[in-house]
Amino acid sequence: MQFVPWQNISDWNCTACGYCCKLYSVVLNFPEWLRLVKTFGAETTVAGLNRFYIKRADDGACTFLCHFGGSYLCGLQHMKPVACKLWPFKILSEPKYGHASRAQFNYRSRTLFVYADSMCSGLRYGAPTWEFTFSTLREFADIALGMRQAQCKTTSNLSSGRLCGLRWSGFW
Ligand code: SF4
Ligand code: SF4
Repeated sequence: MQFVPWQNISDWNCTACGYCCKLYSVVLNFPEWLRLVKTFGAETTVAGLNRFYIKRADDGACTFLCHFGGSYLCGLQHMKPVACKLWPFKILSEPKYGHASRAQFNYRSRTLFVYADSMCSGLRYGAPTWEFTFSTLREFADIALGMRQAQCKTTSNLSSGRLCGLRWSGFW
């Protein structure tokens, strides 16, 4: 896992490859865990040392990951965990992964530090585009700050088919 500061990224669009939903365990906050348990049953979650996670299937993928027409679809549209909404980005208050000046993102009178997990196939590298800087990243920041829940730029374009805004594979 390698984190890249946002100023090294020209743009990001989820390609619905599904890697993120297959490779990582999804941590749940308490309200998210409660909602999942009430809706789908406790067997869809697992308890860690001091956290709850979505249960992974035998192949390691998230229980709610659906394969659909060559792409991957999230089956948790209306209760997608915030960890999934934010991936592959980390929106932090400290420059945890270095490159502070290139990770710094000033927004809503706050100084944030934004990185992306280089494993994501939706990243494009280079000088940030206007859309990435002033639209996509702001939406990620608003979700991280708890000021927004609905996803538009932070989800795959494949969701424009309006399949309930389902997030194809991972994070759209
Ligand atoms: S966010 Fe989208 S493009 Fe990136 S790894 Fe996940 S599914 Fe693939
Ligand atoms: S986006 Fe959906 S399918 Fe993917 S890990 Fe999160 S809950 Fe599971």
